[in-house]
Amino acid sequence: MTTTHGLDSGSAVGARLDALSEQEVRALDRSHVFHSWSAQGAIDPLPIARAQGSHFWDYSGKRYLDFSSQLVNINIGYQHPKIIAAIQEQAARLATIQPAFANDARGEAARLITAVAPDGLNYVFFTNGGAEANENAIRMARLHTGRHKVLATYRSYHGATAGAITLTGDPRRWPSEPGQPGIVHFWGPYTYRSAFHSETDEQERDRALAHLRDTLMVEGAHTVAAIILETVVGTNGILVPPDGYLEGVRRLCDEHGIMLIADEVMAGFGRCGEWFAVDHWGVTPDLITFAKGVNSGYVPLGGVILSDTIRATFDQRPFPGGLTYSGHPLACASAVASITAFHEEGIVDNARRLGEDVIGPRLRELQEKHPSIGDVRGLGVFWAVELVRNRETREPLVPYNAAGEAVKPMLAFAAACKERGLWPFVHFNRTHVVPPCTTTPDEAEEGLAILDEALTVADQFV
Ligand code: PLP
Repeated sequence: MTTTHGLDSGSAVGARLDALSEQEVRALDRSHVFHSWSAQGAIDPLPIARAQGSHFWDYSGKRYLDFSSQLVNINIGYQHPKIIAAIQEQAARLATIQPAFANDARGEAARLITAVAPDGLNYVFFTNGGAEANENAIRMARLHTGRHKVLATYRSYHGATAGAITLTGDPRRWPSEPGQPGIVHFWGPYTYRSAFHSETDEQERDRALAHLRDTLMVEGAHTVAAIILETVVGTNGILVPPDGYLEGVRRLCDEHGIMLIADEVMAGFGRCGEWFAVDHWGVTPDLITFAKGVNSGYVPLGGVILSDTIRATFDQRPFPGGLTYSGHPLACASAVASITAFHEEGIVDNARRLGEDVIGPRLRELQEKHPSIGDVRGLGVFWAVELVRNRETREPLVPYNAAGEAVKPMLAFAAACKERGLWPFVHFNRTHVVPPCTTTPDEAEEGLAILDEALTVADQFV
């Protein structure tokens, strides 16, 4: 049966959905769907018809090159045939089974994930996404240490469930306060807008570590179960820690018996040009949380990778946590296919080379050319371009007015990208260059050329 989009549909449901017009899709959305993070009356979500590789298409047939990877999760690109086939085969074989049973897809996914994790992290607890992974990592750290406090950074996002939004340092936390007790925030390193007035990365590293040491002292290090941080901070600006910082945090944790939780929900699975971002510094956390890139969200999946030591705590003592869909076979089969394709197709290497050879050098050239660019930073396919009104004062190209409404500069910049067929990831005064890890050098060049044109729009606000 051939449908509106020219696809062959094997089922009546597939045919019915595929036959809907753009207007019908918009009408269904506006009538019945309640959206995340938005004033419902102020949005007009674009209906998406299909996607392939690094691109997606709207109903008018307009094609967008995706420099956002959606929510920085489509690491392997759209519609990878091996993942689609694995999901279809798994659905035909065993579509669902509850987590108390052993299951081949779940076991194999855990084996493949731990095989690329740092040594000594050999167990996986599966969740449906990143926030749940962080919730459970905190629970494990608290039960393992018998302590209750958790330290998290101000410039962070850890998810939107009750505990994870309390861990979150950025303003997305405010509406959910007072939140969970026992969570304390501290400043991580960010040389360009240093909380410590540093001018160099070395100063920033040393001052941020001294600040963390002081925070532990005044909080009582013996009350702290865990320090959680995004190895490379994602939505708060792609903040790559200075060399030596994570090593220093690891040492502080060891000194005080504190668990180090690396939130690699966004930074992991190739995004930073390594399997995990911690690999850049050779640091081994006690717990790693992951989601997004593990299977690029073809079916929701996340989890916690835990050390053998933490696992031993629960050898004869029950772990008091679980989820009906933990280790869902469709999600795990898609992770098996995705990680296998990553190995077979050299996708982590591709991400590293794109950062080193194309995105990094080209963004630095754009920084020379465009007065609106204040800072460029990143690695792999995880880059931020920070836009300013004034390079001297570093005043942000303000995205919001006093009423909290988005105002012109960043909207105009984003519109200029979209008009030219590039879908950007715009957040506050930054555009993040976060294409799929499978993007080709030519596609990256094409997108960067569009960014170059769109930046002339941002330059007008300088
Ligand atoms: N942690 C980080 C670093 C994230 O970027 C996100 C989502 O963007 C999360 C956790 C939450 O993941 P999820 O939305 O799957 O719950």
